[in-house]
Amino acid sequence: METLNSDDLTSQLKAGKPLLWLNPQLAPAKKVLDGLETSHSMKLADIEAADALLRRWAPALVRLFPELASSNGLIESRLIELADADRVTGVKTDGRSFIKGDHALPVAGSIKARGGIYEVLVYAEDLAAQHGLLTIDRDPQQLLGDEARALFAIHTVAVGSTGNLGLSIGIMASALGFHAVVHMSHDAKQWKKERLRKRGVDVIEHQGDYAAAVAAGRQTAATSEKSYFVDDENSRNLFLGYAVATLRLKTQLAESGVTVDAANPLIVHLPCGVGGAPGGITFGLKHVFGDAVQCYFAEPCASPAMLVRLASTSGPKSVYDIGLDNITEADGLAVGEASELVYELVHELVSGVYTVADDDLFRVLARLRQLTGIEIEPSASAGFLGLKLKESVLHANPTATHIFWTTGGSFVPAEEYEKFYRQGCELV
Ligand SMILES: *Cc1c(COP(=O)(O)O)cnc(C)c1O
Repeated sequence: METLNSDDLTSQLKAGKPLLWLNPQLAPAKKVLDGLETSHSMKLADIEAADALLRRWAPALVRLFPELASSNGLIESRLIELADADRVTGVKTDGRSFIKGDHALPVAGSIKARGGIYEVLVYAEDLAAQHGLLTIDRDPQQLLGDEARALFAIHTVAVGSTGNLGLSIGIMASALGFHAVVHMSHDAKQWKKERLRKRGVDVIEHQGDYAAAVAAGRQTAATSEKSYFVDDENSRNLFLGYAVATLRLKTQLAESGVTVDAANPLIVHLPCGVGGAPGGITFGLKHVFGDAVQCYFAEPCASPAMLVRLASTSGPKSVYDIGLDNITEADGLAVGEASELVYELVHELVSGVYTVADDDLFRVLARLRQLTGIEIEPSASAGFLGLKLKESVLHANPTATHIFWTTGGSFVPAEEYEKFYRQGCELV
């Protein structure tokens, strides 16, 4: 059995008890971000360019997805004030609390929408440009025509996923006319597979976990030059697409009258799987708010992949290495090994990681509906569970504003959601 930097942490993680871990590598934002610009060529302008591309596509997206008409083609979620947050988190805080409602993001129904759609659109533009189809002012509406569709139809876009990334990539790629293939892990929910098949997406089921589905997809895609693989463990474009949320959040916070500065910190709670979505958001938030923002990642007790990576310099790389089984009801977070690219990008930016018990995810899910009517999936409940732990650290600052990022849920079929809800009610 391998151990992390601290034997104590390893034994606590092995015991499966929720815990809060503070990141000793956390460093001043400006210094880290300047370093990343040099080492990885990742900067604020890249996030702004991703935002600009999505805005350029907005009119075309309305034509493909009529549900976007009300937002003029922008795929964005609301920032919702949560009045009695303590009734969900179990802890009274003095500052204001908000939900960032990605559970209701249009088109894909989860936080995967921005990143996944961005990556597919970049590929579609590159391919069209190579074939001389993206000419007049680079207007994406040209790519909805017969000529572009015929080109896309002989190309494959593939991805490996526990479910939600597959929905995002599959829905966007098939809407443009690509042949879309989603490799799903054993824990992916049946309804996600059916929803994709209805859209004409090829769903390939694998016996193994998320990493096995990604590896299988990567390998198959590599055998054809007409195949593009969205690599969740290594993707710069996914990361930048996720980060776009932060530019918009900045405006939403200002509209809500929230000041973020050294005296009024912003504490953001982000459910974490392979790390791309919470990592991209952390990277973006540090560009926007610097050291005034603190980002915490929430992971299931059975799948603390990013925590294992952060707390290990040369030891274990996956949760299996320390004896955990990566079995959790939070299917969006059921990842055994974190993305190495995301680790490199955020290891000095994330303030800490906490782990959460599956039962508590269902309790939160039920409490949230009872209090607000908001329906989320188990993975999206994770961020509400950090405040109860080591209260001195996370809720000590009376002027802090908390944001709980609800990362998915609106696509969960009603009968599935009712099962989650009843399970939560029995536990409350
Ligand atoms: C994918 C996902 C996450 C985490 O994103 P990663 O990029 O895998 O870290 C969180 N919540 C939900 C609902 C997800 O589907």
